[in-house]
Amino acid sequence: MLALTATEITPELLARYDRPGPRYTSYPTAVDFHDGFGPADYQRHLAAAAARERQPLAFYTHLPFCAHRCGFCGCHAIVSPHGKKVSEPYLRRLKRETEMVARRLGDRRRVTQYQWGGGTPTYLTPEQITELFGHFASLFQLEPGAEIAVEVDPRVTTIAHLGALSAMGFNRLSAGVQDLDPEVQELIGRIQPLEQTVELVTAARRLGFADGINLDLIYGLPGQRVESFAATAREVVALGADRVAIYSFAYVPWLKGHQRALPADRLPPRERKLELLMAARSVFLDAGYVGIGMDHFAKPGDELALALENGTLHRNFMGYTTRRAGDLVGLGVSAIGSIAGAYAQNHKKLSRYYVAVDGGTLPTERGYLLSEDDRIRGDVILSLMCRFDVDLDQIAPRPYFADALLKLQPLAEDGLVEIRGGRISATPLGRWFVRNVAMCFDAHLANTERRQAPTFSRTV
Ligand code: SF4
Repeated sequence: MLALTATEITPELLARYDRPGPRYTSYPTAVDFHDGFGPADYQRHLAAAAARERQPLAFYTHLPFCAHRCGFCGCHAIVSPHGKKVSEPYLRRLKRETEMVARRLGDRRRVTQYQWGGGTPTYLTPEQITELFGHFASLFQLEPGAEIAVEVDPRVTTIAHLGALSAMGFNRLSAGVQDLDPEVQELIGRIQPLEQTVELVTAARRLGFADGINLDLIYGLPGQRVESFAATAREVVALGADRVAIYSFAYVPWLKGHQRALPADRLPPRERKLELLMAARSVFLDAGYVGIGMDHFAKPGDELALALENGTLHRNFMGYTTRRAGDLVGLGVSAIGSIAGAYAQNHKKLSRYYVAVDGGTLPTERGYLLSEDDRIRGDVILSLMCRFDVDLDQIAPRPYFADALLKLQPLAEDGLVEIRGGRISATPLGRWFVRNVAMCFDAHLANTERRQAPTFSRTV
C-alpha cells in the first residue's frame, strides 16, 4: 500500500493540494466553536448524557505545565519552573471540576478510555499522580480492559513516575521523539538524545507497559534531512514501539508566537516535507507495521491494527482510537469534550478557569451544538479519515452531497479519488491528500477561509 515515490507526486499536484486544512479530529473543528455556547448549555448536555447511564464514557484530562518550551510546540502548554507551586492549585481545581461533572452525570460512571495529555503530565510528582488518579477512580469506574493512557516527556520522566503510573493502572504511554538528529534538536530547542528515549522505553516495558508504547515523530521541522529522519524511524522500530504517529509540523507562528524563534529559512520545502514522510513511512511498512490513516502505524497484533481490519477504527480529539465511547468528557484548562451532540471547550486562560471553578460554575468558555448536517458530514469525514473510503448511500440520499461531489470532480480528474455511484475511495495517490478529500465535504471551510489569518496547518 502507498508504494509511491516522491516523483510520482508531481510538484504541480503538490502545489495544488498542499494548502491549509483541518486534521479532522472533530467535525466541525474547534475553529467553529463560539461563546454563544456556555456553562448552562454544557450542563444541559451533561444531563442528556447522564440519561444514557448504561453507556461507557471516555475522559481526557489536560495537565498543561512544562518545565521548558519546545520551539515547535503546538499544544496548550504553560511553561513554569515552579513545580508544585503551580501544579497544586491547578490540581485542586481539576478535582473540583471532576466532582462537578460527576454530579451532573448522575449514575453514568463507567469509563472505557481515560487519557492524560498536556503539557507534560509527568511535570506532576509521583505522589500527585497517585492522588489525582485516586480521586478520579473514587468517582468513576474504570472498566476492565479500559485504555488508560498518558503522554510523557522522556527528559523529565523518572522511574518513580513510571512506577506510580503503572501502579495506578496506566497501560499505554506516548512519548515524543520528533527527530533524533542532534542538529534538528538544537534548532527546535529540545535536546533529547536517543539514550534518554531508550532508557524510558526499557523501564516502561519492565514496569507494566508491556505492549502499550507509542512513539511520536514530527516531519517538517527545521533542518530535517531525509536520511537522518529515516534513521530516526529505524531507531523507533528497533525500540519496538507498538504504535507510531508521524505528525506533520504545524508551523503557525501567527497562532503560536514562540514558533517565530524557529529559523524559518531552515524549514523544509513542501517536496522535501513529503519525502520525509515517505521515507519514514517506508521504514515502518518494511518493518511490518500496519499503516493507519496517512501517518499512523501499529504492529500487526495491536488493537489499532485489528480495529482497522474489522472496520471499528474511530477518531476523536485524542486521535485514532479503538474505543467509540458515545461521549468524551474533557477536564482541565482548554480541554475539549464531545457530549450528547455538542462540543464544549474549557477556558484556555488559567485565571478564568480558576475563577469559574472556584465559583462553582462549569468552566466552559465556548462550544458548538451539532446540527443534523454536521452529523451527516462528520460521518463521511470520519469514514474517509479512518478508512480512505465512504459509501455515501449508507449515510444520506446521494443528492444531499451534490455540492461535495462537484468539489470532488477535480480530485477525481487528478487521480486522487474514484467515484463509483455513491462510493468514494481515495486512490493510493489520493491517500496522501486525504485531508483534501475530506475538505470537499466540509461545509464550514468557506467561512474559515474568509477569515483573515490562515487558521490551519498545511495538508501535506
Ligand atoms: S513538552 Fe510537549 S507540550 Fe511541553 S512545550 Fe514541549 S512540545 Fe509543548
